[in-house]
Amino acid sequence: MSRQLIAGNWKMNGSLAANDTLVRAVAAGLAGARCDVAVCVPSPYLAQVQGLLSGNSLALGAQDVSLHEQGAYTGEVSAAMLKEFGVRYAIVGHSERRQYHGETDAAVADKAKAALAHGITPIVCVGETLADREAGRTADVVKRQMAAVIHTNGHCISEIVVAYEPVWAIGTGRTATPEQAQEVHALLRTQLHAATQHVERIRILYGGSMNAANAAALLAQPDIDGGLIGGASLKPADFLQIVAAAR
Ligand code: 13P
Repeated sequence: MSRQLIAGNWKMNGSLAANDTLVRAVAAGLAGARCDVAVCVPSPYLAQVQGLLSGNSLALGAQDVSLHEQGAYTGEVSAAMLKEFGVRYAIVGHSERRQYHGETDAAVADKAKAALAHGITPIVCVGETLADREAGRTADVVKRQMAAVIHTNGHCISEIVVAYEPVWAIGTGRTATPEQAQEVHALLRTQLHAATQHVERIRILYGGSMNAANAAALLAQPDIDGGLIGGASLKPADFLQIVAAAR
């Protein structure tokens, strides 16, 4: 298994001044990190953060990417544009985009394909709502979301990162237990294994209220290969503690 990946998702937070302080603080604490570390920043700040990252080991990520190559798509940002700013990762299918922007499984799969076509690693998010979990539909939902991406991306699937983010755990302070997360990660791994001979390359991250206190137990699970961190990624000390807990 490759190194774990700890990726911060800043969501719609930040300012030129705040980003400068945050990135410098995180970068200064990375010496000796055993895992890969990335920050996924709002599009207007890609150039700024790209500049701040030169000479350190932090990787740059975006929070979304258009499924289109170019053209009359007002407000969209293409994979080719992201690539010009040194973007290594792009989150696709975050539940906030599925929920507030109507992104379908098919659109998410096409976004992953667009990213891969430009050498950007998509971080594909899947996860069930509380209603899904309580109705016993967790496995069905995450497998359906994953299947669309597998179907559209074929053998390239081994180049993606997956993030399991139970919707009920995002921003709620309510984390999946290590056992709950491990169970879903294992079933995703099995599903991916059936689709590629190179399943060992695919990192499956956990996201949803991961913090300095609960990271070590989650990251110790055999099928948890890192974390996608929201709120705690805005606090350098907390984010660095999560990085330190990774293997
Ligand atoms: P929180 O860590 O704030 O719960 O957010 C998780 C998330 O959505 C990361 O993409």
